[in-house]
Amino acid sequence: MLDKIVIANRGEIALRIQRACREMGIKTVAVHSTADTNLKHVLLADETVCIGPAPSTESYLNMPAIISAAEVTDAVGVHPGYGFLSENADFAERVESSGFTFIGPPASAIRLMGDKVSAIQAMKAAGVPCVPGSDGPLGDDADENIRMAREIGYPIIIKASGGGGGRGMRVVHAEASLTAAITVTKAEARAAFDNDTVYMEKFLEKPRHIEFQVIADTHGNAVYLGERDCSMQRRHQKVIEEAPAPGITEEQRKRIGERCVRACQEIGYRSAGTFEFLYQDGEFFFIEMNTRLQVEHPVTEMITGTDLVREQLRIASGEPLSMKQEDIRIQGHAIECRINAEDPKTFMPSPGLITLWHAPGGPGIRVDTHIYSGYKVPPYYDSMIGKLIAHGSDRHAAVARMRNALAEIVIEGIRTNVPLHQEIFQHAAFQQGGTDIHYLEKRLGLV
Ligand code: ADP
Repeated sequence: MLDKIVIANRGEIALRIQRACREMGIKTVAVHSTADTNLKHVLLADETVCIGPAPSTESYLNMPAIISAAEVTDAVGVHPGYGFLSENADFAERVESSGFTFIGPPASAIRLMGDKVSAIQAMKAAGVPCVPGSDGPLGDDADENIRMAREIGYPIIIKASGGGGGRGMRVVHAEASLTAAITVTKAEARAAFDNDTVYMEKFLEKPRHIEFQVIADTHGNAVYLGERDCSMQRRHQKVIEEAPAPGITEEQRKRIGERCVRACQEIGYRSAGTFEFLYQDGEFFFIEMNTRLQVEHPVTEMITGTDLVREQLRIASGEPLSMKQEDIRIQGHAIECRINAEDPKTFMPSPGLITLWHAPGGPGIRVDTHIYSGYKVPPYYDSMIGKLIAHGSDRHAAVARMRNALAEIVIEGIRTNVPLHQEIFQHAAFQQGGTDIHYLEKRLGLV
């Protein structure tokens, strides 16, 4: 087993990884910026290394600083968490070529899945259903593009192959605007991602976001751990996630899950990964793969009784998966609310000193957070300060527990989106489940 690792992240996920390490007897090195000396996991780490000033470009994205932290502390592996360098193939490669274990997929898989055109091609080859669209990048022949769009049927969406974070996409409703839209999206993609490859897909108007969790080891074993519904979004950012997805049948789960597993085996995948789909009219359409642990992984852990970080650490140590597909049973329902330091109405970030923190509790409640009374939320990073997870015997029970937890939680000194969550949990449509990805923005009057 790995004996000491660098946690190349901050906040709740760094603490989450550290907790798994401590359970397993793995020592942890917390690398942090000058703005993060008071982070909970930094205070609890076996060793700490300051890797740079507050801006993440100079610290959490600073590859040489992170690798040299591993060298000076004699660590053997690096866990990237999510965000920051977690899906950077160059980083994975540099970690490995410096002699350390990257606790994640091989650089080749990150690279293949990081390019959406190559990802879609790989998925099609593995029999994973994709959105109807251009078979590969769009060329410069305007007539050919017009013909293709007609065949797919409007509305269509032009997407940058190198895009991410909801950027590099443009919806086209009519033929008259197609050619100009392709030109503009290409130019934007060149400027933003240094890659002007774009492709075309059918634009689905009322989809849900449903994603499948997979995990694979280095011995050719891979399993799926069911799906999550992450349709409650604002500006392509997930706000609430749940598992299983309301209304998805065991037959659908098995059919899509098995194809995701096959895709993992075909691309030589390793570690935890997520296949994201749009789901509409009873059909799944692959859009992209996330080659890392996700923010919302706890809902899957709660319904399957697994520990995905522990599995990642075992896999990185060369151990086989601790479970087989037939061992994975879905029990009950879990929901996660992302708690952000932001104004619940304007969504403006609200960093500052937390004067009082009371965690909710009771059966089925899990709180993944690094905050404590007296902790100061710095203004430099993502506003998410924690995750509240409720598990119950069914969706109704999980909702009831979450409502209690949202009523109990106390965070004073800063503004948070807890009131927004309290409100959403009153909505009849949310209580019923299965709302599409536009529901929240419509309900908030944002579109
Ligand atoms: P990113 O890497 O930027 O997150 P994705 O391919 O995951 O890009 O798409 C982000 C979001 O854009 C999706 O969650 C969905 O809301 C919307 N989207 C992408 N492709 C389509 C499509 N074909 N039809 C409808 N919406 C889409």
